[in-house]
Amino acid sequence: MSEAQSLEAFRQEVREFLAEKLSPEVAERVKAGYYLGKPELDAWHRALHERGWGATSWPKEHGGPGWTPMQKYVFEDECAKAGAPILIMMGLNQVAALLMAAGTEEQKRRHLPGIRDGSDLWCQGLSEPNSGSDLASLKCPAWREGDEYVVDGSKIWTTAAHWASWCFLLVRTSNEGPKQEGITILLLDMKTPGITIRPIHGLDGMHSLNQLFLDKVRIPVSCRVGEEGKGWPLMKYFLGHERISAAGIWKCKAHFARLALIARTTHRNGRPLVEDPRFRDRMAWLEIRMRALEVLLLSTINDSAKAKGPEGALLKLRGTELQQEMLAMMSEASGPYAVPFHPEILRTGWQEDPIGPEFATTATPFYLFWRKSTISGGSSEIMRNVIAQALFA
Ligand SMILES: Cc1cc2nc3c(=O)[nH]c(=O)nc-3n(C[C@H](O)[C@H](O)[C@H](O)COP(=O)(O)OP(=O)(O)OC[C@H]3O[C@@H](n4cnc5c(N)ncnc54)[C@H](O)[C@@H]3O)c2cc1C
Repeated sequence: MSEAQSLEAFRQEVREFLAEKLSPEVAERVKAGYYLGKPELDAWHRALHERGWGATSWPKEHGGPGWTPMQKYVFEDECAKAGAPILIMMGLNQVAALLMAAGTEEQKRRHLPGIRDGSDLWCQGLSEPNSGSDLASLKCPAWREGDEYVVDGSKIWTTAAHWASWCFLLVRTSNEGPKQEGITILLLDMKTPGITIRPIHGLDGMHSLNQLFLDKVRIPVSCRVGEEGKGWPLMKYFLGHERISAAGIWKCKAHFARLALIARTTHRNGRPLVEDPRFRDRMAWLEIRMRALEVLLLSTINDSAKAKGPEGALLKLRGTELQQEMLAMMSEASGPYAVPFHPEILRTGWQEDPIGPEFATTATPFYLFWRKSTISGGSSEIMRNVIAQALFA
Protein backbone atom coordinates (compact mmCIF):
# COMPACT_ATOMS: atom_id res chain seq x y z
CA MET A 1 0.00 0.00 0.00
CA SER A 2 1.38 3.47 -0.88
CA GLU A 3 1.81 6.10 1.85
CA ALA A 4 -1.18 8.05 0.48
CA GLN A 5 -3.36 4.93 0.50
CA SER A 6 -2.43 3.97 4.03
CA LEU A 7 -3.11 7.54 5.18
CA GLU A 8 -6.52 7.38 3.51
CA ALA A 9 -7.24 4.06 5.25
CA PHE A 10 -6.21 5.67 8.54
CA ARG A 11 -8.54 8.63 7.87
CA GLN A 12 -11.37 6.15 7.34
CA GLU A 13 -10.54 4.42 10.63
CA VAL A 14 -10.68 7.77 12.47
CA ARG A 15 -14.02 8.62 10.82
CA GLU A 16 -15.48 5.28 11.88
CA PHE A 17 -14.30 5.80 15.44
CA LEU A 18 -15.84 9.29 15.55
CA ALA A 19 -19.11 8.06 14.05
CA GLU A 20 -19.33 5.38 16.72
CA LYS A 21 -18.08 7.21 19.83
CA LEU A 22 -18.82 10.90 19.46
CA SER A 23 -22.30 11.76 20.63
CA PRO A 24 -24.19 13.98 18.14
CA GLU A 25 -25.36 16.26 20.99
CA VAL A 26 -21.79 16.91 22.15
CA ALA A 27 -20.63 17.45 18.55
CA GLU A 28 -23.43 19.96 17.96
CA ARG A 29 -22.48 21.89 21.10
CA VAL A 30 -18.81 21.96 20.15
CA LYS A 31 -19.54 23.11 16.59
CA ALA A 32 -21.87 25.82 17.86
CA GLY A 33 -19.19 27.15 20.22
CA TYR A 34 -20.79 26.17 23.54
CA TYR A 35 -18.53 25.36 26.47
CA LEU A 36 -18.11 21.84 27.78
CA GLY A 37 -17.71 21.04 31.45
CA LYS A 38 -14.97 18.88 32.92
CA PRO A 39 -17.18 15.74 33.04
CA GLU A 40 -17.80 15.95 29.26
CA LEU A 41 -14.11 16.52 28.53
CA ASP A 42 -13.15 13.64 30.84
CA ALA A 43 -15.66 11.33 29.11
CA TRP A 44 -14.17 12.14 25.70
CA HIS A 45 -10.64 11.60 26.98
CA ARG A 46 -11.71 8.21 28.36
CA ALA A 47 -13.22 7.21 25.01
CA LEU A 48 -9.99 8.15 23.25
CA HIS A 49 -7.91 6.34 25.83
CA GLU A 50 -9.93 3.14 25.48
CA ARG A 51 -9.16 3.21 21.76
CA GLY A 52 -5.43 3.76 22.55
CA TRP A 53 -5.62 7.36 21.32
CA GLY A 54 -5.54 9.22 24.65
CA ALA A 55 -2.14 10.77 23.96
CA THR A 56 -1.87 11.18 20.21
CA SER A 57 1.59 12.77 20.05
CA TRP A 58 3.29 10.20 22.30
CA PRO A 59 5.69 7.53 21.09
CA LYS A 60 4.78 3.87 21.57
CA GLU A 61 7.37 3.35 24.31
CA HIS A 62 5.33 5.65 26.59
CA GLY A 63 1.98 4.16 25.66
CA GLY A 64 1.12 6.51 22.78
CA PRO A 65 -0.01 5.31 19.33
CA GLY A 66 3.37 6.19 17.78
CA TRP A 67 1.69 8.07 14.93
CA THR A 68 3.61 9.95 12.28
CA PRO A 69 3.06 13.75 12.23
CA MET A 70 0.82 13.25 9.16
CA GLN A 71 -1.35 10.73 10.99
CA LYS A 72 -1.72 13.15 13.88
CA TYR A 73 -2.62 15.88 11.42
CA VAL A 74 -5.29 13.70 9.78
CA PHE A 75 -6.66 12.75 13.20
CA GLU A 76 -6.98 16.41 14.30
CA ASP A 77 -8.49 17.38 10.97
CA GLU A 78 -11.19 14.71 11.23
CA CYS A 79 -11.87 15.50 14.91
CA ALA A 80 -12.35 19.20 14.11
CA LYS A 81 -14.68 18.41 11.20
CA ALA A 82 -16.76 16.07 13.34
CA GLY A 83 -16.98 18.52 16.29
CA ALA A 84 -15.01 16.42 18.77
CA PRO A 85 -14.27 18.14 22.09
CA ILE A 86 -10.85 19.80 22.35
CA LEU A 87 -9.00 18.39 25.33
CA ILE A 88 -6.92 20.58 27.65
CA MET A 89 -3.50 19.81 26.22
CA MET A 90 -1.01 21.27 28.72
CA GLY A 91 -0.32 17.92 30.35
CA LEU A 92 -0.59 15.85 27.18
CA ASN A 93 1.70 18.06 25.12
CA GLN A 94 4.08 20.21 27.11
CA VAL A 95 4.38 18.48 30.49
CA ALA A 96 4.60 15.01 28.94
CA ALA A 97 7.25 16.15 26.42
CA LEU A 98 9.32 17.60 29.23
CA LEU A 99 8.99 14.56 31.49
CA MET A 100 9.90 12.20 28.65
CA ALA A 101 12.98 14.31 27.89
CA ALA A 102 14.17 15.26 31.38
CA GLY A 103 12.06 13.54 34.07
CA THR A 104 13.42 10.86 36.38
CA GLU A 105 12.23 7.28 35.84
CA GLU A 106 10.12 7.65 38.97
CA GLN A 107 8.53 10.87 37.68
CA LYS A 108 7.70 9.22 34.34
CA ARG A 109 6.25 6.17 36.08
CA ARG A 110 4.22 8.32 38.47
CA HIS A 111 2.84 10.92 36.06
CA LEU A 112 2.70 9.71 32.46
CA PRO A 113 -0.10 7.11 32.90
CA GLY A 114 -2.44 9.65 34.58
CA ILE A 115 -1.79 12.23 31.85
CA ARG A 116 -2.39 9.62 29.14
CA ASP A 117 -5.70 8.29 30.50
CA GLY A 118 -6.94 11.74 31.58
CA SER A 119 -7.22 10.95 35.29
CA ASP A 120 -4.71 13.74 36.07
CA LEU A 121 -5.33 17.13 34.53
CA TRP A 122 -2.36 19.53 34.58
CA CYS A 123 -2.16 23.29 34.67
CA GLN A 124 0.96 25.35 34.10
CA GLY A 125 2.12 27.94 36.64
CA LEU A 126 4.58 29.99 34.61
CA SER A 127 3.31 33.60 34.32
CA GLU A 128 3.36 35.97 37.27
CA PRO A 129 1.74 39.37 37.79
CA ASN A 130 4.88 41.05 36.38
CA SER A 131 6.38 38.29 34.25
CA GLY A 132 4.68 37.14 31.06
CA SER A 133 6.50 37.63 27.76
CA ASP A 134 9.70 38.15 29.73
CA LEU A 135 9.21 34.89 31.60
CA ALA A 136 12.83 34.66 32.74
CA SER A 137 12.19 37.67 35.00
CA LEU A 138 9.93 35.52 37.22
CA LYS A 139 10.30 36.00 40.94
CA CYS A 140 8.13 33.39 42.77
CA PRO A 141 10.65 32.44 45.49
CA ALA A 142 11.40 28.91 46.66
CA TRP A 143 14.03 27.72 49.07
CA ARG A 144 15.14 24.38 50.32
CA GLU A 145 14.36 23.05 53.81
CA GLY A 146 15.61 19.47 54.19
CA ASP A 147 13.94 17.23 51.59
CA GLU A 148 11.41 19.89 50.58
CA TYR A 149 11.17 23.18 48.72
CA VAL A 150 9.08 25.90 50.33
CA VAL A 151 7.31 28.10 47.73
CA ASP A 152 5.92 31.48 48.75
CA GLY A 153 4.55 33.61 45.89
CA SER A 154 1.89 33.96 43.22
CA LYS A 155 1.15 32.79 39.67
CA ILE A 156 -1.43 34.32 37.34
CA TRP A 157 -3.51 33.43 34.25
CA THR A 158 -3.31 29.79 35.27
CA THR A 159 -5.74 28.07 32.91
CA ALA A 160 -7.82 25.27 34.46
CA ALA A 161 -6.07 25.43 37.87
CA HIS A 162 -9.51 24.93 39.47
CA TRP A 163 -9.82 21.59 37.65
CA ALA A 164 -6.22 20.47 37.78
CA SER A 165 -4.76 17.81 40.03
CA TRP A 166 -1.15 18.83 39.25
CA CYS A 167 0.65 22.03 38.34
CA PHE A 168 3.86 22.44 36.42
CA LEU A 169 5.51 25.25 38.39
CA LEU A 170 8.43 27.58 37.69
CA VAL A 171 10.10 29.10 40.75
CA ARG A 172 13.18 31.15 41.53
CA THR A 173 15.68 29.40 43.78
CA SER A 174 18.52 31.90 43.30
CA ASN A 175 18.94 35.58 42.43
CA GLU A 176 22.63 35.22 41.53
CA GLY A 177 23.82 35.79 37.94
CA PRO A 178 21.70 36.48 34.81
CA LYS A 179 17.92 36.16 35.19
CA GLN A 180 17.87 32.91 33.14
CA GLU A 181 19.84 31.23 35.92
CA GLY A 182 18.29 30.27 39.25
CA ILE A 183 14.98 29.08 37.75
CA THR A 184 13.80 25.68 38.97
CA ILE A 185 10.99 23.44 37.70
CA LEU A 186 8.75 21.78 40.30
CA LEU A 187 5.73 19.49 40.00
CA LEU A 188 3.06 20.61 42.44
CA ASP A 189 0.26 18.37 43.72
CA MET A 190 -2.74 20.75 43.80
CA LYS A 191 -4.00 19.12 47.02
CA THR A 192 -0.95 20.43 48.93
CA PRO A 193 -1.90 22.73 51.86
CA GLY A 194 -1.28 26.47 51.35
CA ILE A 195 -2.70 26.84 47.81
CA THR A 196 -5.46 29.40 47.20
CA ILE A 197 -7.07 29.53 43.75
CA ARG A 198 -8.78 32.82 42.89
CA PRO A 199 -10.98 32.71 39.78
CA ILE A 200 -10.52 35.30 37.01
CA HIS A 201 -13.48 35.76 34.66
CA GLY A 202 -12.60 36.36 31.02
CA LEU A 203 -14.05 38.85 28.51
CA ASP A 204 -16.70 36.23 27.70
CA GLY A 205 -17.80 36.18 31.35
CA MET A 206 -16.64 32.57 31.82
CA HIS A 207 -14.18 31.11 34.30
CA SER A 208 -11.16 29.34 32.86
CA LEU A 209 -8.36 31.49 34.30
CA ASN A 210 -7.09 31.81 37.84
CA GLN A 211 -4.57 33.43 40.07
CA LEU A 212 -2.70 31.06 42.38
CA PHE A 213 -1.47 32.15 45.80
CA LEU A 214 1.15 29.84 47.24
CA ASP A 215 1.55 30.39 50.96
CA LYS A 216 4.65 28.51 52.15
CA VAL A 217 3.66 25.50 50.06
CA ARG A 218 5.93 22.49 50.63
CA ILE A 219 7.01 20.41 47.63
CA PRO A 220 9.22 17.32 47.96
CA VAL A 221 12.64 17.62 46.29
CA SER A 222 11.76 14.43 44.37
CA CYS A 223 9.23 16.60 42.45
CA ARG A 224 11.97 18.73 40.88
CA VAL A 225 12.58 18.24 37.14
CA GLY A 226 16.23 18.66 36.18
CA GLU A 227 18.79 20.34 38.36
CA GLU A 228 18.10 23.13 40.82
CA GLY A 229 18.48 26.54 39.13
CA LYS A 230 18.90 25.00 35.67
CA GLY A 231 15.27 25.01 34.55
CA TRP A 232 15.50 27.66 31.81
CA PRO A 233 17.01 25.57 28.96
CA LEU A 234 14.41 22.87 29.70
CA MET A 235 11.73 25.55 29.71
CA LYS A 236 12.65 26.69 26.21
CA TYR A 237 12.13 23.12 25.02
CA PHE A 238 8.76 23.07 26.79
CA LEU A 239 7.64 26.37 25.20
CA GLY A 240 8.53 25.07 21.71
CA HIS A 241 5.90 22.37 22.19
CA GLU A 242 3.35 24.97 23.31
CA ARG A 243 3.84 27.02 20.14
CA ILE A 244 3.33 24.05 17.83
CA SER A 245 0.04 23.12 19.46
CA ALA A 246 -1.15 26.76 19.48
CA ALA A 247 -1.03 27.10 15.65
CA GLY A 248 -4.20 25.01 15.17
CA ILE A 249 -4.87 24.96 11.40
CA TRP A 250 -7.67 22.50 12.13
CA LYS A 251 -9.27 25.16 14.36
CA CYS A 252 -9.12 27.58 11.40
CA LYS A 253 -10.79 25.01 9.18
CA ALA A 254 -13.56 24.33 11.71
CA HIS A 255 -14.20 28.06 12.21
CA PHE A 256 -14.24 28.61 8.44
CA ALA A 257 -16.75 25.80 7.89
CA ARG A 258 -19.00 27.36 10.52
CA LEU A 259 -18.61 30.83 9.04
CA ALA A 260 -19.56 29.46 5.61
CA LEU A 261 -22.67 27.82 7.09
CA ILE A 262 -23.67 31.06 8.81
CA ALA A 263 -23.08 33.04 5.60
CA ARG A 264 -25.31 30.63 3.64
CA THR A 265 -28.17 30.59 6.15
CA THR A 266 -28.22 34.22 7.38
CA HIS A 267 -30.10 36.77 5.28
CA ARG A 268 -29.36 40.48 4.91
CA ASN A 269 -31.49 42.76 2.72
CA GLY A 270 -33.43 39.78 1.43
CA ARG A 271 -30.52 37.61 0.30
CA PRO A 272 -28.06 35.22 1.94
CA LEU A 273 -25.00 36.91 3.42
CA VAL A 274 -22.76 34.84 1.20
CA GLU A 275 -24.21 36.71 -1.80
CA ASP A 276 -23.11 40.04 -0.37
CA PRO A 277 -20.02 40.80 -2.52
CA ARG A 278 -18.05 42.43 0.31
CA PHE A 279 -18.71 39.62 2.78
CA ARG A 280 -17.94 37.00 0.13
CA ASP A 281 -14.67 38.72 -0.86
CA ARG A 282 -13.53 38.76 2.75
CA MET A 283 -14.36 35.07 3.05
CA ALA A 284 -12.43 34.27 -0.12
CA TRP A 285 -9.38 36.17 1.15
CA LEU A 286 -9.60 34.29 4.46
CA GLU A 287 -9.80 30.97 2.66
CA ILE A 288 -6.79 31.76 0.44
CA ARG A 289 -4.66 32.61 3.48
CA MET A 290 -5.92 29.54 5.33
CA ARG A 291 -4.89 27.28 2.42
CA ALA A 292 -1.47 28.97 2.29
CA LEU A 293 -1.06 28.37 6.02
CA GLU A 294 -1.91 24.72 5.56
CA VAL A 295 0.76 24.39 2.85
CA LEU A 296 3.32 25.97 5.20
CA LEU A 297 2.27 23.61 7.98
CA LEU A 298 2.56 20.58 5.72
CA SER A 299 6.02 21.67 4.59
CA THR A 300 7.27 21.79 8.20
CA ILE A 301 5.28 18.92 9.65
CA ASN A 302 8.06 16.34 9.51
CA ASP A 303 10.77 18.69 10.74
CA SER A 304 10.41 19.38 14.47
CA ALA A 305 13.43 21.75 14.49
CA LYS A 306 11.69 23.98 11.92
CA ALA A 307 8.40 23.80 13.78
CA LYS A 308 10.07 25.17 16.93
CA GLY A 309 11.94 27.90 15.03
CA PRO A 310 10.71 30.87 12.96
CA GLU A 311 8.36 28.65 10.92
CA GLY A 312 6.60 27.62 14.15
CA ALA A 313 6.34 31.30 15.17
CA LEU A 314 4.90 32.16 11.73
CA LEU A 315 2.37 29.35 11.99
CA LYS A 316 1.26 30.49 15.44
CA LEU A 317 1.05 34.12 14.36
CA ARG A 318 -0.90 33.52 11.15
CA GLY A 319 -3.08 30.71 12.53
CA THR A 320 -4.26 32.71 15.53
CA GLU A 321 -4.80 35.92 13.55
CA LEU A 322 -6.88 34.09 10.94
CA GLN A 323 -8.99 32.45 13.64
CA GLN A 324 -9.66 35.85 15.19
CA GLU A 325 -10.74 37.34 11.86
CA MET A 326 -13.13 34.45 11.26
CA LEU A 327 -14.66 34.81 14.73
CA ALA A 328 -15.01 38.57 14.23
CA MET A 329 -16.95 37.91 11.00
CA MET A 330 -19.27 35.46 12.80
CA SER A 331 -19.99 38.12 15.39
CA GLU A 332 -20.60 40.72 12.65
CA ALA A 333 -22.97 38.31 10.90
CA SER A 334 -25.08 38.26 14.10
CA GLY A 335 -25.98 41.93 13.56
CA PRO A 336 -27.84 43.36 16.58
CA TYR A 337 -27.97 39.90 18.19
CA ALA A 338 -24.23 40.19 18.86
CA VAL A 339 -25.02 42.60 21.69
CA PRO A 340 -26.96 40.61 24.38
CA PHE A 341 -24.52 39.28 26.97
CA HIS A 342 -25.69 36.01 28.51
CA PRO A 343 -22.72 33.96 29.73
CA GLU A 344 -25.08 31.46 31.45
CA ILE A 345 -26.38 30.36 28.05
CA LEU A 346 -22.97 28.91 27.20
CA ARG A 347 -23.05 26.36 30.01
CA THR A 348 -24.41 22.86 29.77
CA GLY A 349 -27.95 22.66 31.16
CA TRP A 350 -29.32 26.06 30.00
CA GLN A 351 -32.97 25.56 29.01
CA GLU A 352 -34.18 28.93 27.68
CA ASP A 353 -34.56 29.80 24.01
CA PRO A 354 -31.74 31.89 22.54
CA ILE A 355 -32.25 35.57 21.76
CA GLY A 356 -32.06 35.75 17.96
CA PRO A 357 -30.54 33.01 15.79
CA GLU A 358 -28.84 30.11 17.58
CA PHE A 359 -25.39 30.88 16.20
CA ALA A 360 -25.53 34.47 17.54
CA THR A 361 -25.68 33.17 21.12
CA THR A 362 -22.11 31.99 21.02
CA ALA A 363 -20.62 34.17 18.27
CA THR A 364 -19.67 37.18 20.39
CA PRO A 365 -18.49 35.36 23.54
CA PHE A 366 -16.47 33.04 21.31
CA TYR A 367 -14.94 36.03 19.54
CA LEU A 368 -14.16 37.70 22.87
CA PHE A 369 -12.66 34.54 24.41
CA TRP A 370 -10.33 33.92 21.49
CA ARG A 371 -8.85 37.40 21.65
CA LYS A 372 -6.55 35.50 23.99
CA SER A 373 -4.98 33.36 21.28
CA THR A 374 -2.65 36.16 20.14
CA ILE A 375 -1.48 36.65 23.75
CA SER A 376 -1.17 33.23 25.39
CA GLY A 377 1.52 30.82 24.25
CA GLY A 378 3.65 33.84 23.19
CA SER A 379 2.06 37.08 21.97
CA SER A 380 2.02 38.09 18.29
CA GLU A 381 4.67 40.74 18.96
CA ILE A 382 6.96 38.09 20.46
CA MET A 383 6.32 35.79 17.46
CA ARG A 384 7.28 38.68 15.14
CA ASN A 385 10.47 39.17 17.17
CA VAL A 386 11.32 35.47 16.75
CA ILE A 387 10.81 35.69 12.97
CA ALA A 388 12.77 38.95 12.66
CA GLN A 389 15.67 37.63 14.74
CA ALA A 390 15.89 34.53 12.54
CA LEU A 391 15.86 36.65 9.37
CA PHE A 392 18.48 39.12 10.52
CA ALA A 393 20.67 36.82 12.62
C1 LIG B 1 -6.44 33.23 28.17
C2 LIG B 1 -5.03 33.13 28.66
C3 LIG B 1 -4.59 31.93 29.19
C4 LIG B 1 -3.31 31.83 29.74
N1 LIG B 1 -2.94 30.67 30.34
C5 LIG B 1 -1.76 30.62 31.00
C6 LIG B 1 -1.41 29.47 31.75
O1 LIG B 1 -2.15 28.46 31.80
N2 LIG B 1 -0.26 29.49 32.45
C7 LIG B 1 0.59 30.56 32.44
O2 LIG B 1 1.63 30.49 33.07
N3 LIG B 1 0.29 31.67 31.72
C8 LIG B 1 -0.86 31.72 31.01
N4 LIG B 1 -1.20 32.86 30.31
C9 LIG B 1 -0.30 34.00 30.36
C10 LIG B 1 0.39 34.29 29.05
O3 LIG B 1 1.45 33.40 28.84
C11 LIG B 1 0.85 35.76 29.11
O4 LIG B 1 -0.31 36.57 29.14
C12 LIG B 1 1.71 36.12 27.93
O5 LIG B 1 2.95 35.48 28.00
C13 LIG B 1 1.93 37.65 27.86
O6 LIG B 1 2.42 38.12 29.07
P1 LIG B 1 1.72 39.33 29.85
O7 LIG B 1 0.25 39.10 29.91
O8 LIG B 1 2.46 39.54 31.12
O9 LIG B 1 1.93 40.59 28.91
P2 LIG B 1 3.28 41.39 28.74
O10 LIG B 1 4.43 40.48 28.59
O11 LIG B 1 3.36 42.42 29.83
O12 LIG B 1 3.04 42.11 27.35
C14 LIG B 1 2.21 43.28 27.22
C15 LIG B 1 2.29 43.73 25.77
O13 LIG B 1 3.64 44.09 25.42
C16 LIG B 1 4.09 43.32 24.30
N5 LIG B 1 5.51 42.96 24.48
C17 LIG B 1 6.08 42.40 25.59
N6 LIG B 1 7.40 42.20 25.38
C18 LIG B 1 7.67 42.63 24.11
C19 LIG B 1 8.85 42.67 23.32
N7 LIG B 1 10.01 42.20 23.77
N8 LIG B 1 8.74 43.16 22.06
C20 LIG B 1 7.56 43.61 21.58
N9 LIG B 1 6.41 43.63 22.29
C21 LIG B 1 6.46 43.12 23.54
C22 LIG B 1 3.23 42.07 24.29
O14 LIG B 1 3.14 41.52 23.01
C23 LIG B 1 1.89 42.62 24.77
O15 LIG B 1 1.21 43.22 23.69
C24 LIG B 1 -2.45 32.96 29.72
C25 LIG B 1 -2.87 34.17 29.14
C26 LIG B 1 -4.14 34.26 28.62
C27 LIG B 1 -4.58 35.58 28.02
